[in-house]
Amino acid sequence: MTVNSIRLEQHFEQMSEIGKLGETGTNRPTLSPSEKQAFELASSWMQAAGMTTRIDNFGNLIGRLEGTKPELPVLMMGSHLDSQPYGGRFDGVAGVLCAIEAVTTIVEKGIKPERTIEVVSFADEEGWRFNKGLFGSRGILGRLEEGELDRADKDGITRRQALIDFGCDPKKFDDSLYPPGSIHCFLELHIEQGPVLDLAHKPIGVVSGISGPLWWTVKLKGMAGHAGSVPMPIRQDALVGAAEIILALRQIATQIPDAPTVGTVGTMNVFPASRNVIPEEVTFTVDLRDIDLSRRNMYEAQLREQIEAICGKHHLTYSITEDWNSEPRYCADWLKQIIHAQCNNLNLDAPELMSGPFHDAMALSYATDYAMIFVRCKDGISHNPLEFASYKDLALGAEVLYGTVLEVLKHEPYNL
Ligand SMILES: [Zn+2]
Repeated sequence: MTVNSIRLEQHFEQMSEIGKLGETGTNRPTLSPSEKQAFELASSWMQAAGMTTRIDNFGNLIGRLEGTKPELPVLMMGSHLDSQPYGGRFDGVAGVLCAIEAVTTIVEKGIKPERTIEVVSFADEEGWRFNKGLFGSRGILGRLEEGELDRADKDGITRRQALIDFGCDPKKFDDSLYPPGSIHCFLELHIEQGPVLDLAHKPIGVVSGISGPLWWTVKLKGMAGHAGSVPMPIRQDALVGAAEIILALRQIATQIPDAPTVGTVGTMNVFPASRNVIPEEVTFTVDLRDIDLSRRNMYEAQLREQIEAICGKHHLTYSITEDWNSEPRYCADWLKQIIHAQCNNLNLDAPELMSGPFHDAMALSYATDYAMIFVRCKDGISHNPLEFASYKDLALGAEVLYGTVLEVLKHEPYNL
C-alpha cells in the first residue's frame, strides 16, 4: 500500500467529530457553520499537502495543486462534505478524504505533475435543505436553473442569503465558472450506498454509469363518503387505486430478473385522512431508475397504461406531473480501463456496477469524461447513522484512486 492508511483513518475520525450526531451519525447541512468547520479542517490537510485552497462563490471548497504546465485542463477529483440531517460518516466524505490522501501521497513521493490537480468538496450535493441538490457541481458549469437562489429552507432562509452568510457572493458566480474544456476529467470515489458489493464480498467496484431517475407526482381523485355506509361496489376509493399502482410499479420494475431497474413510491398524502371517510384524493411520488434508458422508457409506458386501467376500474381521475427526468450518464471507457487495471494490480476482483443514487459526478458528466470508484458499505445502509465502511476498504479505495490519478497524469494526448 502506497497511501498512508493510518493518516486516512485519522482524517475520517477527526472529520466525523464535526456535526456529530449520536455515536456514529452526522448532521452537517450545506452552507452551515458545521460545514464551514469541515472545510477548515479539510483545508488544513490540503495545505499540508502543498495545495492552495479557496471557497468559491457557489460555496465549493477547492484545493489546487498547481502543475508545471498550468495551461493544461485540470484533473478534478472530489465529492461533498455536507450530509443528510440524519446521515452517516462516509457519504461524500470518503471521496474528499481519499482524494486528499491521493494528492498528499503524490507530493510525498516527490512527483511533480504537469497537469494541475484540484480536489473539490462540492456545495449542497444532498439537496434536502433547499430541496434541490448538486448545487455546487452544477454551479461551476453554469447549469443552475431559474429561481434557485430564491429557494428557502424550513426556517425561511433563502439560498442567496445562506451563500452570503457563508462568505460567498452570488453576484460573482461568473468568477467561479469552469469554461468548456477546462476540466480534463473528473474522478469520484464514493461508498456504494447499496448492497451489491457487500453481498458479493468485494471491497471495491467500478461504476458503469449513473442511472437517471424519472420523478413523478401522481394525483388520484375519487369520491369521499362515509366508511360505514357506502357499499363496496360503488366506491371511488383513491387509496385503493394508489395501492394497486404501487404493486403494478413493483411488478413492472422486477419483470427482468437481476436487471438493476428500481421503482419506488416514497411519499403519499391522503385526503381527507379520516379513519371513517373513504379517501377522496391521494398524491404520491414515483421514482423509476434504470441504466438502460430504452428499457426505462418502456417501463414508463407500461406504468402509464396501468395507471389508466386501474383508475378506470375504480372510477378515478388522475394527473401525472413529471418533476425530473434525467438520462443515464455513462462513465468513460478509458477511465474505467485504468481503474480496472489498478484493481488488478491490487488483486482486487472489482465488479462493474451501476449507481442508482446520483452524485456530483453526474453534473460533471455534462462537461467532461468521468469515472467513479465504489467502496463497499455494510449491508448497503446509507443516509443513516448506521452507515459503515471499513477503514481497510477505504484505504484500498484511496490506493486505487492514487494509482488511477498517476495513470491519468501519464495519459497522452492531453486533450481527448
Ligand atoms: Zn454522496
